[in-house]
Amino acid sequence: MIKLLDKNIANKIAAGEVIDRPVSIVKELVENSLDAGATAVTIEIREGGRNYIRVTDNGCGIPADEAELAFMRHATSKISDERDLDAITTLGFRGEALASICAVARVELITKTADTKAGRLVVNEGSRILENSRIGCPDGTTITVKDLFYNVPARKKFLNSAASEARRIIDFASRIALSYPDVRFSVINGSKPVFTTSGNGNITANILSIYGADLGKSLIPVEKAEKGFTLKGCISDPGTSMPSRNRQVFCVNGRIISSSVMERALDKAYRERLFNGRFPVAFLFLAMPPEKLDVNIHPTKKEIRFDDNAEVEDFVQMAVMEALRGEEAIPSAANTHEIKIPEVNESTYSYVSGVKDETVRRIAVRGGEKEEQVNITSILTTLRDDLNRASDTSPRQEDQPAGSPLSINRPFEFDDLRVIGSVFNTYIACQSEDSFYLIDQHAAHERVFYEKLVRQYHSDEKVQQQLMLPLTFNVPADVSSTESSWISAVRAMGYDIEFFGNNTYIVREIPAFMELSEAEDFLNDMFNEFTERPDLSNTGILEKIIMKACKSAIKAGDAISREEILALFDQLQQCDNPFSCPHGRPVFVRITKYEMERMFKRA
Ligand code: ADP
Ligand code: MG
Repeated sequence: MIKLLDKNIANKIAAGEVIDRPVSIVKELVENSLDAGATAVTIEIREGGRNYIRVTDNGCGIPADEAELAFMRHATSKISDERDLDAITTLGFRGEALASICAVARVELITKTADTKAGRLVVNEGSRILENSRIGCPDGTTITVKDLFYNVPARKKFLNSAASEARRIIDFASRIALSYPDVRFSVINGSKPVFTTSGNGNITANILSIYGADLGKSLIPVEKAEKGFTLKGCISDPGTSMPSRNRQVFCVNGRIISSSVMERALDKAYRERLFNGRFPVAFLFLAMPPEKLDVNIHPTKKEIRFDDNAEVEDFVQMAVMEALRGEEAIPSAANTHEIKIPEVNESTYSYVSGVKDETVRRIAVRGGEKEEQVNITSILTTLRDDLNRASDTSPRQEDQPAGSPLSINRPFEFDDLRVIGSVFNTYIACQSEDSFYLIDQHAAHERVFYEKLVRQYHSDEKVQQQLMLPLTFNVPADVSSTESSWISAVRAMGYDIEFFGNNTYIVREIPAFMELSEAEDFLNDMFNEFTERPDLSNTGILEKIIMKACKSAIKAGDAISREEILALFDQLQQCDNPFSCPHGRPVFVRITKYEMERMFKRA
């Protein structure tokens, strides 16, 4: 028998779609506050919001005679006719949130508009109005939601621990607070203040107050404007990374979103700079022409669709890469070895609020990790793209918005370096006006060698040097029998190589930038790899081999003369990514004068 559902049951079912966890309530309430033009929003939760959520704002309030209406399904003040749908500027417009919340919880609304003396109190329980009366209160709206799912035990069971629900709420609050820098947000968990933002538009200050000053130390500013796109924000220097993406926040035209396009752009920009499985920290605020994106493809509006993914991806990647080339991007000796990240539990947030916590865990970033191969195919492609881009150096736009978020990220100048000497025959010590640098000479050389090889590999013109005495290589039969899979690659690198008979190859020319011994070692290493992996039709495998061979072709621990140091710098300067070796280890570490003064307790 088909029956119409009872209104109460229907409401509960519908509510399930909007309200599944405490964080969805917080989200709806905060969005309403923002839609009401609030400049201050306070979020209070107890027990992860399962029993108590209160959001207070100083927005426009609800007129007394409409207060009850706000709880009706499809009651909204934000659109009134179909045409409005095309030009939605508010976060909500479906008129469903409050109706859904009160179907599954006890809700109290206190509200007042500026033009009235008295406010309104409306109490609602399971979609029934229990009270509607006058009350004295300040302008704005306070909504309290108690006993979530008290009438839907089946759903209540699915709630997680208070700590984990609290974490979700605080994560949401952090992101929304960042994307509305002009609104002052306060978050209180139980009796603990979690964070308060300034409300004065200073994004960097907000990042520091939300995520802690320790994270802030490793951040470098990003700022780029071009063709109607502006990217601002900050990213971690390559010496700092995270095991997941949860310190990546993207905001597009004022909305916090998740975006695989922006993630990809970041990953590409950091490629070779981080070990596999590590992620940069990033707070990126993109402003772009609104007609180039579609916001409403997803009901919760977390995903947006760009008309042209490649355009956005390229712009973000370029902006991040430029920032990574600046002086600030050189890992500081003070925090290359370990960064602190908070333990993921409730006490996290005492750390987040700036109070150092016992549970802060130290994680070695550089140490103890096994060396990982980077995906070479993609590196080669990126590098080639970079080279192409670098060649059409369009002048930087002058209309950049003023006021960089962090200290100014000056372009790093090799010319400013003064060589002091060599340490342990391994590190070059240098200084600039206000920094001291150690440069790993082996990693530097490897970087130079690698980029030159890759450039040569992709270039049509090979720069070669002829050998007075040709080199001969005797190889195992399985190497010569698979010749067709590798010989053209070896030639592309600049070797003039030919089969000579009897498993022997003869090399008459080598890449111009290689020493004879390097060229020989490199090729021998390649051959060894070929033996192990005879199937080289896969270019990915071949390119991995190039990287491996690159590494062993260069010897560490040689004494290096001043002239050689200068020559190395000269070559390093021409590299796209001079600050880390192809395996992601740093080439440079930096200690600023200030950091040094701190070490000696002078500052
Ligand atoms: P929607 O946001 O989609 O319009 P809601 O159910 O979230 O629907 O809210 C219903 C209506 O209640 C809103 O359209 C708005 O008029 C009013 N309202 C809700 N919260 C607030 C608030 N914090 N300040 C002012 N008005 C509010
Ligand atoms: Mg709403």
